Amino acid sequence: MHLDLFTLGIMGLAVGATISLSFTLLGMVLRGMPALPIWAAGFWVLTAAALAQGLDEKQSLLSAVVGSGLIALSNALMLMGIAVHVRYPLRWRWPMLLVGVFLVIQLVFVLEPPAQLYEALVFGAKSVVWDVWMIWVLLRRSPRDLRNTCAFTATIFCADMAFYFLRSAVMLAPGTESQVLLATQLVSANYLFGIVCTFLLSTGFTLMLAQRLTLDLRSMARTDGMTGLPNRRAVIEEGRRAVDACRARGETSSVLLLDLDGFKAINDSWGHAAGDEVLQHFVRLMRGIHLPDGALLARYGGEEFLVVLPAIDAAQAIVAAEDMRSRVAAMPAQFGTHRIPVTTSVGVAGAAGLEFEALVSAADAALYRAKKLGRNRVEWEGSRDEAVSFA
Ligand code: GH3
Ligand code: MG
Ligand code: MG
Repeated sequence: MHLDLFTLGIMGLAVGATISLSFTLLGMVLRGMPALPIWAAGFWVLTAAALAQGLDEKQSLLSAVVGSGLIALSNALMLMGIAVHVRYPLRWRWPMLLVGVFLVIQLVFVLEPPAQLYEALVFGAKSVVWDVWMIWVLLRRSPRDLRNTCAFTATIFCADMAFYFLRSAVMLAPGTESQVLLATQLVSANYLFGIVCTFLLSTGFTLMLAQRLTLDLRSMARTDGMTGLPNRRAVIEEGRRAVDACRARGETSSVLLLDLDGFKAINDSWGHAAGDEVLQHFVRLMRGIHLPDGALLARYGGEEFLVVLPAIDAAQAIVAAEDMRSRVAAMPAQFGTHRIPVTTSVGVAGAAGLEFEALVSAADAALYRAKKLGRNRVEWEGSRDEAVSFA
């Protein structure tokens, strides 16, 4: 089969339009994926560029400036989409500046047409600049959790770069400039490679989106929606891991179980919204307290919170608990014009060798005692030095 430029142009257009449409439709279904509409726009612009260049085989102003400008714009959109996806704060002005520079070069080329070789080399250099920029963001600015799909997409840009280097090497090889057939073959190869790359790129972006979605859902399943704290499931998993690591080193870990006092009465007298505000106020206070490295603060239940303190002994944990209790008691919650007094009872457990679950049960027993002894107080199991030493 002979693939002339017209056939390749039609193929490129069909592939481009299909991918653009898929990304647009995907964007309507997958809300909350800000990179998706940017990439969809990038693919539409790329398709429009292929159309502009295909419309005009004689390479007039339309194809040279509009077509190349649109390709540069689509590169900028792909890059911005990648930056948004990996949450790298890239300012629009930098990619747009590059688009502007490339447009100016293209205009100069229209006014004073250079040798075809020279023009092709500049186009290749421009593609390499975009490729390097995108590879850098994908590999150096992406979070670890998204790295493998980003690396897949980066490979496509590496292949694109390798293609342009190879093409430049062939064009610069002595004696090739006079071969008309080779020049035509290079243009065809360029078209075909562009189509394959666009298709692979859409696969790369789709994989990146799927990974981000999976990650977001997993994080949502482990986070309490109202306070933003890790939920019970997350703290059990992470707390177990942290306490086990300390046990392996023979170190003590502590846990604090905090339960707001008379919370049902707050709901009953001020309403559920006030109760929610009290919970958020409590969490703000807790976040404001400096906790040791590796400490975990989580919402363990309705108005119960768990603090895991790896490598912290019982005596230090009791001091931390007393600090939390007194700060909460000193700062009432504000609900509209009302000030609602808030207090918390705290159960503390800390010992070497105990599993996470045993520490939590001991802290729960201590909390029960704090409630029985009148609330707004800190209680612990066992001696102050080894709070659950009997366990
Ligand atoms: P105690 O001092 O013994 O801890 O008494 P309490 O009233 O704090 O405890 P109790 O277990 O009787 O009541 C807890 C209440 O917390 C019951 C439940 O409706 C309420 N609650 C649980 N989660 C939420 C929430 O997310 N928002 C609000 N507003 N209330 C909640
Ligand atoms: Mg309570
Ligand atoms: Mg409770």
